[in-house]
Amino acid sequence: MTKEFFIETIIRLPLTENGCKIWPFYKNRQQYGIVNFKGKNRKAHRLIYMFLKNPDLSDNLVVMHTCDNSSCVNIEHLKEGTVADNNLDMLNKGRNITFSGELHGMYLLSDEKVAKIKEDYATGKYTQRYLARQNGCSRAYISYLVTGRGR
Ligand SMILES: [Zn+2]
Repeated sequence: MTKEFFIETIIRLPLTENGCKIWPFYKNRQQYGIVNFKGKNRKAHRLIYMFLKNPDLSDNLVVMHTCDNSSCVNIEHLKEGTVADNNLDMLNKGRNITFSGELHGMYLLSDEKVAKIKEDYATGKYTQRYLARQNGCSRAYISYLVTGRGR
């Protein structure tokens, strides 16, 4: 993918109701858009940030999402910061999943299972603890799913 084509692709992406532009192609497990650029897999949001805002972005800096949506590539929702900023940001948003280990196993459930859990929980018949036990994951993860913070 060339730089021009990549930028053009992102410009053409529709906006969601949150004003996000969701990367519609390959995403990694953390839901970051991934693009092959010059033979290397790069994070799409980081790449677009470098192209449009800061071509000299240091490897020590991360590109963060102000919208908290890893798949978003809207330049308006991206800002650079240090790894420490990013950790703090995630902690503040209650998204410290990578750091606390509390939500370990979050990608073990299939999409169908996740949908079923949300459905079951919505009926009000099951507690988060019960659903966690049924699905072999932590209550924190169930909470993460049913409060709509997870997929
Ligand atoms: Zn966004």
